[in-house]
Amino acid sequence: MRTLYVRIIVITMAIMIASAIVAFAVTNIYYQIYLKPENDQKITHIAKNIESIYEGNSNQSLPAFLTSIADLGYKFYLVNQNGDAKTFGESFSSTKMEQSEIQEVLNGDVYHGIRNYPWKPFVTGFFDNHLENTIGVPIEVNGATYALFVRPDTMQQFGEMRIFLAVLLILTLLFSFLMVLISTQFVVKPIKKLTEATKKIAAGNYHLKMDVHRHDEIGRLASDFKKMSDSLERTEEKRQEFVSSVSHEIQSPLTSIQGFSRAIKDENLTEKERSHYLTIIEKESKRLSLLSKQLLTLTSLDHEKEMEMIRYDAAEQLKEVVLATEWQWQEKDITIEMDLVPTTVTGDPSLLFQVWMNLAENAIRYTETGGTITIRSFDDKTGAWIVVEDTGIGIAIKDLPFLFDQFYKVDKARTRTENSTGLGLSITKKVIELHRGTIMVDSEPGKGSTFTVNIPYE
Ligand code: ADP
Repeated sequence: MRTLYVRIIVITMAIMIASAIVAFAVTNIYYQIYLKPENDQKITHIAKNIESIYEGNSNQSLPAFLTSIADLGYKFYLVNQNGDAKTFGESFSSTKMEQSEIQEVLNGDVYHGIRNYPWKPFVTGFFDNHLENTIGVPIEVNGATYALFVRPDTMQQFGEMRIFLAVLLILTLLFSFLMVLISTQFVVKPIKKLTEATKKIAAGNYHLKMDVHRHDEIGRLASDFKKMSDSLERTEEKRQEFVSSVSHEIQSPLTSIQGFSRAIKDENLTEKERSHYLTIIEKESKRLSLLSKQLLTLTSLDHEKEMEMIRYDAAEQLKEVVLATEWQWQEKDITIEMDLVPTTVTGDPSLLFQVWMNLAENAIRYTETGGTITIRSFDDKTGAWIVVEDTGIGIAIKDLPFLFDQFYKVDKARTRTENSTGLGLSITKKVIELHRGTIMVDSEPGKGSTFTVNIPYE
């Protein structure tokens, strides 16, 4: 039983055979309990009728009478007082009979051989052509008593029916077997296809073509399988995209570090030039270091490590952010306005600190000298609200849908010089989503941007 196909066929055949045996046994019991006594009664009635018809019309000879009745589908065994016997109709396959039984009939009793015929497993006895399987009645002929044993000639009465039933049974079995052979193909074929598809996926080929027309369990399995392979394909594409973006992000600072280190080796450089080159190298290595830190954060967020959920005041944290970025906004002569009321959030303080930090640093980075940044926080029944608003360069509408994508930078030339990776907002969004919150952006080029974060209560 190595394949599912063979297994289904063998099991179905076994079920069919077992059902046939059980059905036969049950009908046999039914025959023994109900039909056999009924049959006995029926034949007894017929035997008595034959006896009374003959006795009411005894000018006819008994042998001639019995021969003509035998032609109608009966067989008789006639025994006289001396034990001489004669058969009318088709002969019996066995004429074994206790002498005492014959004697009882001769004495006037009725012999109920059909009712008392022994119970045989699997053979109902209905067709047993034995003398013991008859009804015996006494019959008077010219003052002498004879014992007349009667039974229907089953071959004559039911011969065609027997063949009909046998053919019906054999054909039913044969057709069922053929239908099982064919229908099993329909069950097994899609499973085989799914197995092949699994092998392809294991070999890294996610692009599968599968016809999913069925609406049963196998159809659902195939359609879920297709969804799974599509999602694996998307994940794989994203992974490749991610790897190539990371390599690109690493490659550009490395190239510039290599170039400037080579340039520094030139002995004719002035001290000013050398110091400028060293500053660039330092900036690029800082960018690399930030990139690797942000990548680590992204991975740890992907694995959804246990967050440390605490209820605390976000307004205090925002004040810390303003302090931590002080030299950056002072350097650009930016005014910071704070509209902070105690704002309770439930969340991971270190992750949320990174979120506020990123929003504030972006606001500073993308706001021209002399601009204003407003940081607001408050809470209402929907949770905590933190708003970071700037009067900076703003973001074009076409860029807004991609703003939170990994490595997305609006102005690649500008961000090249800034300490920018394009990962900040994607990390921000992920952290906020882990807190089941939302982030919205409202921006107008040249006027400024507003980032609004909502963190619901637990
Ligand atoms: P990064 O700032 O490291 O480039 P982010 O993911 O934080 O990466 O931001 C993605 C892009 O969104 C930035 O490159 C920038 O073009 C744009 N951006 C973010 N914040 C602002 C802002 N306050 N004003 C204008 N543009 C912004």
